[in-house]
Amino acid sequence: MATVETRSLTKRYDSTTAVDAIDLAVREHEFLVLLGPSGSGKTTLLRMIAGLETPTSGDVLVSGRIVTGLPPRAHNMAMVFQSYALYPHLTVAGNIAFPLQAQHMARDKIDSKVEWAASLFGIGHLLARKPRQLSGGERQRVALARAVVRDPVAFLLDEPLSNLDAKLRASAREELQQLQRRLGTTTIYVTHDQVEALALGDRVAVLDHGGIRQLDTPQRVYAHPVDRFVATFIGSPPMNLVASDGMEIGFRPEHFLPDDVFTADASLERFPLDITRIENLGADRLVYGVLAPPQPPVKVISRIPCTVNVSPQPGTRHMFAVRRADLHHFDTSSGTSLSVAEGVT
Ligand code: ADP
Repeated sequence: MATVETRSLTKRYDSTTAVDAIDLAVREHEFLVLLGPSGSGKTTLLRMIAGLETPTSGDVLVSGRIVTGLPPRAHNMAMVFQSYALYPHLTVAGNIAFPLQAQHMARDKIDSKVEWAASLFGIGHLLARKPRQLSGGERQRVALARAVVRDPVAFLLDEPLSNLDAKLRASAREELQQLQRRLGTTTIYVTHDQVEALALGDRVAVLDHGGIRQLDTPQRVYAHPVDRFVATFIGSPPMNLVASDGMEIGFRPEHFLPDDVFTADASLERFPLDITRIENLGADRLVYGVLAPPQPPVKVISRIPCTVNVSPQPGTRHMFAVRRADLHHFDTSSGTSLSVAEGVT
């Protein structure tokens, strides 16, 4: 088991700074998620940690030892890509055994390792098949089995679930989390999917333009985003933003409810809302509307649980409200959260 650290790690391509002086310390046994939009530098960062990409400057450390510039073998990390990259001409057993054969491990030892990894992922009955005879979920398990079989110091997973359909993705997510807990292997997981990030990570690093905006537990990045970027990138539908008194105030759809559902003693900020559309999602209703005067005419969304017995109608004006404790405040120009800085939230 290992810690993985980067110090001022930077990668430049001509005019693009893909990764910009990132300091990151992944703890032993930790499941750390790198979350960010496409192009934010996640894959480049992961590839430098794996030793597959040479940094422009800065260092990668494994358990305190600098490995920058050493070949991937010296980093000893197992990487699983979105595409799985299985060898089509090899059987499942052959694919899982491949990294061990490359290490010239004894045949009987290889066999028992393959068996162990296959049983870990419930694919023991598929060992004789070729990748083209497998479903997407089964291929993904083979790729993971091939990754664990080498006893790597860390797993590096780059969107490993994105080729699976929604249902399979949810169950694969659960399996992956349980497996990581059982093995205790330090894991860095790249995704652009905030739901996946919040569900899987012990901590989540939110990336934008090659830098880390916030590194914290899923609960804290959701409840206490440090800036407007993190606040709006995480959460679906995204946080509502309204200009007010020279700053921007933000509130999540689930905190923005008809004012009659709050208790009389709640300290509220009230917003008249012209309701335009209602979307019934079963467990929740999404109420779309435009703020009415004296508020600026901003589009906002409310998420009302089906257990709340109110029925706002499109085409009507209704008073909505947010508890003051649930408001976020952002500096209009920098986007920095004033709530976090002042310890208001
Ligand atoms: P992500 O994984 O978050 O989508 P990447 O790490 O793939 O982001 O890319 C970060 C930035 O670096 C992007 O602007 C991308 O276009 C650029 N980039 C990545 N790889 C290369 C490369 N080999 N040559 C030039 N630019 C690259």
